[in-house]
Amino acid sequence: MYDYDLLVVGSANADLVIGVDRRPGPGETVLGSDLAVHPGGKGANQAVAAARLGARAALLARVGDDGHGRLLLDSQRAAGVDTVGMLVGGAPTGVALITVDPSGDNSIVVSPGANARLTPQDVRAAASLFQASRVVSAQLEIPLETVVETVRSLAFDSRFVLNPSPPGPLPAEVLAACDPLIVNEHEARFLLGASAGPAPEDWARALLLRGPRSVVITLGAAGALVASGSTSSFVRVESPRVDAVDTTGAGDAFTAALAWRLSRGETLTEAAAFAARVGAAAVTRQGAQESFPTAEEVFAR
Ligand code: ADP
Repeated sequence: MYDYDLLVVGSANADLVIGVDRRPGPGETVLGSDLAVHPGGKGANQAVAAARLGARAALLARVGDDGHGRLLLDSQRAAGVDTVGMLVGGAPTGVALITVDPSGDNSIVVSPGANARLTPQDVRAAASLFQASRVVSAQLEIPLETVVETVRSLAFDSRFVLNPSPPGPLPAEVLAACDPLIVNEHEARFLLGASAGPAPEDWARALLLRGPRSVVITLGAAGALVASGSTSSFVRVESPRVDAVDTTGAGDAFTAALAWRLSRGETLTEAAAFAARVGAAAVTRQGAQESFPTAEEVFAR
């Protein structure tokens, strides 16, 4: 019996957002709107998305001993995430400085801060969390060696889900543990480089050859493609048609929802079909964490 449906090992950032009429060029200063500060980072987003759906979720992450760190801790707790694995100190909390112009185009500078100090040793020290977790998910906003240690720390029959974002080279050991590897179109093309074929089915086939047990490719409004290495089958799952307002965090909501449904014993295709409904619900509202739906909201649609 596991205490947690999902353990997320990942990043926690403060997103500092300023609206501008025009994004500044080199050497230029422009005036902007009042500052908005939102809890973010892919790890923190996934943990909140899972907890909002009803998952028993925990987050292993590092924040600074500062106001942004307290914002991250508070927002996780408010969503019902167990924060026993949240470490404090070592560097300032990670920050994303975001300027957005009226057309929605943005410029972003990320300071990884404490996220870059989440170490393999931190993972080893959290062994009891790993033993208590049915599914473990990670992304790439923390050091790669920390993701490698995450894979080595999995409980005997727990399951590992990876969203390689931002995309980077993946060691074979990490790829072999992924069940599934979840990528969007951009990440799939990055991982495959020039060898990417024309269709998502081609990408899935090529990605499976790299070693993951299964692959899910998210396709925005078109839903997702599920590819299982064990059966060599490809299944498309639909996303409900919605009026998209803001797609920020859609991939995080999708991954969290899929991981949670896997923890409940669903097949990968069933879990992806549910996750597509969660992703679609998330794009109907502004923001990332603020936009994540409850399970009741998903079933009511
Ligand atoms: P990412 O946010 O990582 O770029 P996607 O854009 O593929 O990932 O979105 C993840 C999931 O969110 C999709 O598989 C889909 O279920 C849902 N989604 C995203 N955009 C839309 C949209 N415009 N309409 C409906 N569902 C969407």
